[in-house]
Amino acid sequence: MSEVFDVVVIGAGPGGYVAGIRAAQKGLKTAVIEKESLGGECLNHGCIPSKALIHVADAYAAIGDFRSLGIAVEKPAIEWRNSIAWKDRIVKRLTTGVGSLLKAAGATVIAGEASFIDAKTIRVREAGGERELTTRATILATGSKPFEVPGLPFDGQVVISSREALALGEIPPRLIVVGGGYIGMELGTVYAMLGSQVTVVELLDGLLTGQPRDAVKLVERNLRRLKIKTLLQTKATGLEVAGGIGKLTVVGPDGATSILEAEKILVTVGRKPFTGSIGLENTAVTRDSRGFIEVDGQRRTKDPAIFAIGDIVPGPMLAHKASAEALVAVAAIAGENAIFAPRAVPGVVFTAPEIATVGLSKEAADASGVSVEEAVFPYQALGKALTMGASEGYFKWIYRLPDQVIVGAEIVGRDASALIGEAALALENELTLHQVARTIHPHPTLSEGWHEAAELGLGWPIHLPRK
Ligand code: FAD
Repeated sequence: MSEVFDVVVIGAGPGGYVAGIRAAQKGLKTAVIEKESLGGECLNHGCIPSKALIHVADAYAAIGDFRSLGIAVEKPAIEWRNSIAWKDRIVKRLTTGVGSLLKAAGATVIAGEASFIDAKTIRVREAGGERELTTRATILATGSKPFEVPGLPFDGQVVISSREALALGEIPPRLIVVGGGYIGMELGTVYAMLGSQVTVVELLDGLLTGQPRDAVKLVERNLRRLKIKTLLQTKATGLEVAGGIGKLTVVGPDGATSILEAEKILVTVGRKPFTGSIGLENTAVTRDSRGFIEVDGQRRTKDPAIFAIGDIVPGPMLAHKASAEALVAVAAIAGENAIFAPRAVPGVVFTAPEIATVGLSKEAADASGVSVEEAVFPYQALGKALTMGASEGYFKWIYRLPDQVIVGAEIVGRDASALIGEAALALENELTLHQVARTIHPHPTLSEGWHEAAELGLGWPIHLPRK
């Protein structure tokens, strides 16, 4: 006998679990099906564990700076297994919390793998057998998987993905990172800070492509301090593994071949939408040429009973974008007039220093014919930044001419990830430089950087000489 639901959510990452909670809150009879762990990639193997290990590395590095503050400390030592256990406890706490929130909202959580029999009938394979659900609407939130590099298949031991890199039994003496995108650079930086000798192999002619060049320069400066070797325009072409050591063949920009050795080779060359074995062929759902599910503004697929959100649909592969889409899809199912049309989705790279951006860059604005100007205020002119020993970085507003409406923002430096929220609020609400300048920001805080950059754009800087 088939169980009947108003909404079935497949996948319980930041897209799926948020959809499940909101649908149940709205009084819809909701089931959430998850084949691995509640919280998805983000809570179990992505955002949360990576930020926990970044915190470990930052804390370790900070102890090294204590002497300059007049604090004498013994030489610190990493107890890696305890660090990993601490990270695991955070993940456990959050994923258990997701289960409690779903239950409190009234959703039914089913541990199993779902696939479509037809658009409104879903089979779930679970430990004890199979069950069938009938549903009025389904929200697909099955996430993404890492790309493999030809000739470099993951073996989970020497050639690893971010998943294994976040759960290593020991800090590798040598680590090669293939792919200089944000995941590779975040994890490469962590291990370099903890003592690994790190080499980054990148096919393109720059790291963190898509990020502002001025920001990347600051990150690169730190990579040099950490003695991270960066090989650009270099292609990984083959691998041999012997005695737990990987020998990676690479071809450099001049065509010369060389061999790099390391205990771990982390491959982070991007992620692809995961729609395997869901039975999409039994529905009218369509995919684009890159495998992303095609959706409309409400995240409805070509099959009217099926919605899709998160990493399996086009747009930035980010947790907060998945969650925002979840709320729109549920509202649409509940008959509300919702549409996913944010003016901007903020993005953060948790390197050292952090890079955070939202909206248009000047280059993108110029290319789309929008006339803009930039106002850039440095961290070193902020009292609070100096008291934190964090004078590196800048705040940047990108504003439209002549009305000075903010269309983009960039921040590089300490706590950029926390500070970009104000910029996103400004953008979403089409605030002007004048409105930001008129808003009193508390002193002494890093947030004053936004105020100062706005005053600068208006031509009236206080803490910088007027041009
Ligand atoms: P996922 O979180 O991938 O969840 C999909 C879920 O669906 C999984 O749990 C999977 O088991 C389940 N599933 C799949 N198929 C089925 C099926 N047939 N039946 C039942 N269940 C199924 N994003 C940020 O915004 N900030 C960050 O700092 C950040 N850091 C990251 C660091 C790393 C190392 C990685 C890998 C990713 C990071 N991301 C970050 C990206 C973020 O994790 C994803 O954008 C986000 O998890 C996407 O959410 P989702 O709900 O679409 O899918």
